[in-house]
Amino acid sequence: MKKITIIANWKMSLSLHESIQLAEDVERGLPPLPASLRVFLCPSFTALPSVQPLLRQCLLGAQDVFWENRGAYTGEIAPSMLTDLGCHAVILGHSERRAYCGETSLMVHRKVQTALANNLTPIVCVGETAEERDRGQKEHVVIEQLTSALSGIDEKKEQDIFVVYEPVWAIGNGHVVAPEDAEQMHQLILHTLREMYSPAYLDAHVQVLYGGSVDRRSVGPLISMPHVGGCLVGTASWHAHNFLSIIDAALRI
Ligand code: PEP
Repeated sequence: MKKITIIANWKMSLSLHESIQLAEDVERGLPPLPASLRVFLCPSFTALPSVQPLLRQCLLGAQDVFWENRGAYTGEIAPSMLTDLGCHAVILGHSERRAYCGETSLMVHRKVQTALANNLTPIVCVGETAEERDRGQKEHVVIEQLTSALSGIDEKKEQDIFVVYEPVWAIGNGHVVAPEDAEQMHQLILHTLREMYSPAYLDAHVQVLYGGSVDRRSVGPLISMPHVGGCLVGTASWHAHNFLSIIDAALRI
């Protein structure tokens, strides 16, 4: 059976009360999940301690982490602070952080290294802007972001990694990429990773997901593509009904 991962990115969109309500509603609405389907919820930092005890089948993720373990870094969150709260994974290099917080490929690389050193699974986002796509640079951009973020991983440690192909122009606006186009980029991502890591490591520990305006209608065709291993879902994960419909569609694959 195909292994599928669905990750909910709640961004900065929900109050504490709304986060608790959504976690409760999602958990209550989920059917028993097979081992082949993993679901992560990524609330804002402030909601993590309240959401964690509500989770039964979903796993907890965060939306960012700093690259140092401790020190004078006002406002930042250390990896151990996330693992203390029960986080299993962390989103890194999201295009919103690259665009609004000046996050560079080097910063993403350092965050990936620190996350792995603290047993947090990195969810590494890569993707081109509309301008880069129109200039014919999408492959170049994605390969650069991917190789910078994921160079130097010690595959002997057998740690899981998610890569998410998120074309920036498809985020938050209803413009989903055609499944065939997502598949083509996923093949390129896997081809690039095969030049860096062994097939055995990639098969067992690395999953490539798609993100960008996924909803209950688009999720099925996307994850039916052979190299699309699941989805990162923003807007459609903020209402239990919509998110549960996505899980339902994933269960039918
Ligand atoms: C995201 O920001 O990671 C995302 C996929 O958002 P949306 O689903 O709203 O496009």
